[in-house]
Amino acid sequence: MNNADITFDAKHIWHPYTSMSQPIPAYPIMEARGVELVMPDGKRLIDGMSSWWAAIHGYNHPELNQAVTTQLSKMSHVMFGGITHPPAVNLCKQLVAITPEPLECIFLADSGSVAVEVALKMALQYWQAKGEKRQRILTLRHGYHGDTFGAMAVCDPDNSMHGLYKGYLPPHVFVEAPQCGFNDEWNPADLHPLEAQLAENSHEIAAIILEPIVQGAGGMHIYHPAYLKGVRDLCDHYGLLLIADEIATGFGRTGKLFACQHANISPDIMCIGKALTGGYMTLSATLTTRHVAETISNGEAGCFMHGPTFMGNPLACAVADASLSLLLNSPWQQTIANIELQLKAELMPLRSHPSVADIRVLGAIGVIEMKQPVDTAALQKVFVENGVWVRPFGKLIYVMPPYIITPEQLSKVTNTMAKVLG
Ligand code: PMP
Repeated sequence: MNNADITFDAKHIWHPYTSMSQPIPAYPIMEARGVELVMPDGKRLIDGMSSWWAAIHGYNHPELNQAVTTQLSKMSHVMFGGITHPPAVNLCKQLVAITPEPLECIFLADSGSVAVEVALKMALQYWQAKGEKRQRILTLRHGYHGDTFGAMAVCDPDNSMHGLYKGYLPPHVFVEAPQCGFNDEWNPADLHPLEAQLAENSHEIAAIILEPIVQGAGGMHIYHPAYLKGVRDLCDHYGLLLIADEIATGFGRTGKLFACQHANISPDIMCIGKALTGGYMTLSATLTTRHVAETISNGEAGCFMHGPTFMGNPLACAVADASLSLLLNSPWQQTIANIELQLKAELMPLRSHPSVADIRVLGAIGVIEMKQPVDTAALQKVFVENGVWVRPFGKLIYVMPPYIITPEQLSKVTNTMAKVLG
């Protein structure tokens, strides 16, 4: 890539959440191998982001490459309407086996946001089939569930695009997010806002959607498992569906295979994506129980009303199947526990820095929350100069590295995080 290509990119190509008139720089990456991203001049950056939670095994993994090329030589895609194929069946067998019981009916979708749309539609169709008009979703402040309209409508109402699309988004019900951190002493008062809201309005609520344990893009808050258990109990008490958005937290990131397992609960509907394919391709899934699936199927429509063109894409399913096998056949609990220990040891001392508001670590997630918003472009530049890829946003400088990161590589990431604090 030469300078003309970079100029073309800046002029013609949108990047996520970036101005087209004054874009912040996009760094060219030519290859990615293991934990490193390679720039045109050969400079290597240690990846602290796993390409937004996805590349858990690192890049260019021989087994994942093999899974894609083997499938490519057979069939890259075929419609899923009226057709099935081994990659989808093999993947779904693994998903049924590893996800919390009684989740067993799987809808394969294209991206995380679409998995959330599917989950919301399932909840609406479920109540419709039961003959009840329940169309409101209850969710937590500071939540984030994606960028499509249905998903946007359940994102934090202040810290998101709600203002821009006011009048277009369905008005859902928001309650205060839990205050108790993962390791704090549990305070049942955390559940009071939700209890109060349900006592008044449960009859119009179809489902509660939340990110279990870690609220990601809405602020990287890590909350107490007793809260999640309390939400499950309240859903049972009021007969509401619980939707767990495990798109960021799934596949070991928090130290459990799924974050719901910290609270030993099972949701009625669960969304997964991101690391599902080891970061190779876009694929997501929405899982539900036989009860929900049958209720929907026995309703007026007789089926669930969704069916994307690239549903069950064989290439994506094949690499997801291989990625899951790779994870499950690895000592992932120990690997993630080691990353957690190291992140704690190397980040916690930064708590006393005058610009730092909080440090949070869980599993392979490390977060520095600053007192003031950071200058993303300026910090990004320092990270790159130091051979590290971390993309801060808002007040957060945070990492979720590939699980294969070595202790030396991780130290380089955390040292650079300390360095950018000044
Ligand atoms: N839910 C959560 C919890 C997420 O973190 C994200 C992505 N950041 C999404 C949904 C949306 O996923 P996608 O970007 O693949 O549409």
